[in-house]
Amino acid sequence: MSAQGSAAPITGRCFCGAVTFACAEPPVITRACWCRDCQYLGAGNATVNAIFRRDAMTVRGALAAYASRADSGTEMRRSFCPRCGTQLFSESASRPQLIVVRVGALDDPNAAPPSATIWTRSAPRWACIDPALPRTDGQPPPLTSP
Ligand SMILES: [Zn+2]
Ligand SMILES: [Zn+2]
Repeated sequence: MSAQGSAAPITGRCFCGAVTFACAEPPVITRACWCRDCQYLGAGNATVNAIFRRDAMTVRGALAAYASRADSGTEMRRSFCPRCGTQLFSESASRPQLIVVRVGALDDPNAAPPSATIWTRSAPRWACIDPALPRTDGQPPPLTSP
């Protein structure tokens, strides 16, 4: 058994509690994203997104979803609680093995601190961007499959 497999699961829920989820493994990576789409979801701020292997994720409760096309042409599916509206997940048609989780929905947001900031060229002038983290001004290269 791997050390990863024996780690405590990372759990979370929407604001109202109708949707809960658990991931058996730590995230592959966590990033703050300042793309313009994320500013709509994040009340003007960057979203903070932990990317997990889809196979390690368990979700309970009904989700609603909104599909849109990214600048790259890839179809994105963003899922949220239909009762309270909390944004929970994002999935890309081009990388179905991964699921993006909004870190604000984790029971312990300290479990997934961001290690990079992306899409800084879309950030407003007043954005607070951690100077200690590496930055990418647009979309970073795709993650290699874990
Ligand atoms: Zn809810
Ligand atoms: Zn974004």
